[in-house]
Amino acid sequence: MSAKVICSNDLELRRTAIMTDGNATGTDAAEFPSGDPGTSLLHPGVSKFGGTSLATGQRMLHAARLVASQVDGSGVVVVSAMSGVTNRLEELARVDDPDVRREILDELGRVHLEGGRQIMGDAFRGSDLSKALERRLQTLEDVPTDLPLPRRRDRIVSAGEDLSALLVTRALIEVGLPAIHIDARRVVRTDERFGQAIPDDDETLRLARSLLLPLLKEGRVPVLQGFLGATDSGETTTLGRGGSDFTAAILGAALGAREVTIWTDVDGIFTADPRLVPEARVLEEMGYEEAVELAWFGARVIHPAAAKHAVGRRVSLRVRNSLRPEAPGTLIRTDRRGSAGVAALAFRPRVSLITVRSRPLFMAWGFLARVFDVLARSEIAVDLVATSHTSTAFTVADGAPLDRVRRELETFSEVEVETGLGTVTAVGAGLRSRPGLAARLLMALDDIPVRLVSQATDAALSLVLESGDGAEVLKRLHRELGTTDTPSPH
Ligand code: ADP
Ligand code: ASP
Ligand code: MG
Repeated sequence: MSAKVICSNDLELRRTAIMTDGNATGTDAAEFPSGDPGTSLLHPGVSKFGGTSLATGQRMLHAARLVASQVDGSGVVVVSAMSGVTNRLEELARVDDPDVRREILDELGRVHLEGGRQIMGDAFRGSDLSKALERRLQTLEDVPTDLPLPRRRDRIVSAGEDLSALLVTRALIEVGLPAIHIDARRVVRTDERFGQAIPDDDETLRLARSLLLPLLKEGRVPVLQGFLGATDSGETTTLGRGGSDFTAAILGAALGAREVTIWTDVDGIFTADPRLVPEARVLEEMGYEEAVELAWFGARVIHPAAAKHAVGRRVSLRVRNSLRPEAPGTLIRTDRRGSAGVAALAFRPRVSLITVRSRPLFMAWGFLARVFDVLARSEIAVDLVATSHTSTAFTVADGAPLDRVRRELETFSEVEVETGLGTVTAVGAGLRSRPGLAARLLMALDDIPVRLVSQATDAALSLVLESGDGAEVLKRLHRELGTTDTPSPH
């Protein structure tokens, strides 16, 4: 990326009404002309920053400079909570011990107030930003204890993104951008599945356009919290862990973004998790289907719904390293299938395998329908499936609420549940035309029992293993396939 620095004079021209307090309440769609704001005129970039990229006030200023070097007309910024904060907030939502709660609250206060000091220096004390942070921190102490847990949890964990959005808005202003914080609850409309909420696409698209396009037209830079939204009645919801990528993709799709950049802490999408496999290599490009499969089957670098959503609406996604912006990153393209052969490997731990055996004389044609009907009614997502004449086996995440499912399945079958397994997935294009692939994977894992093999697409082949040790499995398979076999995407 070029290290273009936006001259403050350029910015003065666009700096119409800079928000100085980083507060969400100052803007209303009513301030702007109504009607179609002219979608075709604007193709904003959407920049999403993950927790590590925002781990301190200094990092937030650095992220803000990256946005400044990219915003050449219009841009939207989506932020995650600061690194580690969502985990601490989840703990806060769970624990009752007043000492532990106090310790978490104090730590969160310290981290965010220190972030503010780093961004604003001496001007932070007594500033609108410090007051806004204190107010949001205070609300954490006041969340009613009689709220049902999923709702309560979402009210609490959403503070991470709320606080970082306040800070990042101020950091952008410090580097000279006319940033404005828009509360994501006003834009991302979701159902009531607290903790795993599903956005209403049409309504979110409408709200995003009506609220954000007029701001973009004025040259302002809206900053939204990733990961959260609100129900029709205004209750805060969250989109599932890692969901800020999803927010960025939704907004990119709604606004017809030229590209959505996922700024993270590694150089792009690698042939395997680089923290587990040091010899993994970064991919320049990746096909959309492979990216979705890779993400779903364990590569945390991108949220699976993000890839699916953006590309479904023909918006390219690029994964880049905020700490090494000179690296080009990995482009997930809408117009390209991946290169032939294995492109990348992922491991997903904590998987349960459920084997359902039909009772003798049960009619084969009704069996699968009944099994999946039970799962659908309990809203349990099945990842991989294999069937034989008498049995069907499928995987779900460990911890899925299986009690009721099990009871219902046992009315017509025998059920076995094994937990603590893992899945390894090889993604690439044209895998079906590589008949030796499954054999090579199995050979490389010869001492680790394989419980299920599944290849439902040309883009992914998954194995369920009696092993929760992802590092060992990925290293072995990468050695077998990755270093010799992984073609360059070009
Ligand atoms: P962020 O906080 O920026 O959203 P995440 O921690 O969610 O970042 O995702 C980045 C991490 O994803 C990396 O640090 C890396 O360990 C992990 N990862 C897993 N698989 C891959 C892969 N194939 N390529 C790159 N990173 C991967
Ligand atoms: N802060 C949330 C999480 O840690 C969402 C995100 O970072 O994407 O899961
Ligand atoms: Mg993430």
